[in-house]
Amino acid sequence: MRCRDIGPPDAKVVLIGEAPGEEEERAGIPFVGAAGGMLKQMLSHAGINYNQCFTTNVMDVRPPGNKFKYFYDGKIPSRELEAGWVKLRNKVEAIKPDVIIPLGKEPLKALCNKDGIVDWRGTWLSFRGINVLPTYHPSYVLRIYKDHPIVEMDFVKAVTRKPAVEPPMLLSPNVGQVLAWLLFAVRSGSRLSFDIETVGKHIRCVGFASKMDKLRAEAICIPFIKFPSSELMRPAIGAKTIRLSGSGQAGSYWTPAEEIAVLDAISKLFMSGIEVVGQNSICFDEPLLKEEFGLDIKNHYMDTMHAFHCLYPEFPMSLNFLTSIYADYPNYWSEKDTNNDLSEWKYNNMDAIVTLDVSYVIEKELREVTV
Ligand code: URA
Repeated sequence: MRCRDIGPPDAKVVLIGEAPGEEEERAGIPFVGAAGGMLKQMLSHAGINYNQCFTTNVMDVRPPGNKFKYFYDGKIPSRELEAGWVKLRNKVEAIKPDVIIPLGKEPLKALCNKDGIVDWRGTWLSFRGINVLPTYHPSYVLRIYKDHPIVEMDFVKAVTRKPAVEPPMLLSPNVGQVLAWLLFAVRSGSRLSFDIETVGKHIRCVGFASKMDKLRAEAICIPFIKFPSSELMRPAIGAKTIRLSGSGQAGSYWTPAEEIAVLDAISKLFMSGIEVVGQNSICFDEPLLKEEFGLDIKNHYMDTMHAFHCLYPEFPMSLNFLTSIYADYPNYWSEKDTNNDLSEWKYNNMDAIVTLDVSYVIEKELREVTV
């Protein structure tokens, strides 16, 4: 039997499952079996009334053995599946909800053409102008019950928050811009985050973020190595060209004199009294800055990864996970192009921005649990 949709046609929240199971096939409506029970429980914990949601599936018929791969020919979607995608897309567009929550990898693929629910869960996407927030399928939660708080947090995020606008960032700066930005950051006295990207064993760029004022870009990426692919590169006069294994030819971004001035300014910043925070910075960024540039960090205030782990040892502690639960920037990491300087610099700045944002939330939560 075909499984029909359920819920008000003008619902503010649309939930999308994969395909009916045995019990749904019998009842003719979605999510009446064990996965449905789990789903309703998690929604209720998140303060969402299931009866006010519109619930549908990518496919309205049960695949043999409940195996969704039946609708694929190898990796290629069957005609039947493609027809299901088109029907689903038109249906949710007509409803125009505030948010769509794809449950698992198949509805994510059907709606947004993205692969991999682990990478995309908890991060904002958009479908024809409608906000989308994917999360795990409740059947997964039945198997891996320890992850149910993650899905509940995703539900809360979906109905209480909105995607954030990317803050201004300064990529490909000249030496004057770097010195001015760092000087203002120190003078502002406000917390600063930092993050490095590497290529081989070398530091490719160092990013900083600070909420010093509204006039200046919130983040700056200070490149040290540039690749020939970068169109924004300035010729590095007198720069030594180095060859990095497997990475093609790369050159120094700065002239030797510029690099000394830039490193001197960074060193002053790390010696100043302002709070400096990083993600996994105790074991990764700080020792590398010391080894390659001889920089000492005297004002390291927090490593967000370790601080978060103290709060929630049961959760993943990657910055991607922290972004998914604490921040509202769309997923900026899954589709970055490491071979492209601009893409890498932007990624570096987003990491610094998120690290700064989450450091405040983590500090607040840590203060709440400690006396
Ligand atoms: N799983 C789904 O994806 N949909 C249902 O309706 C039931 C279980």
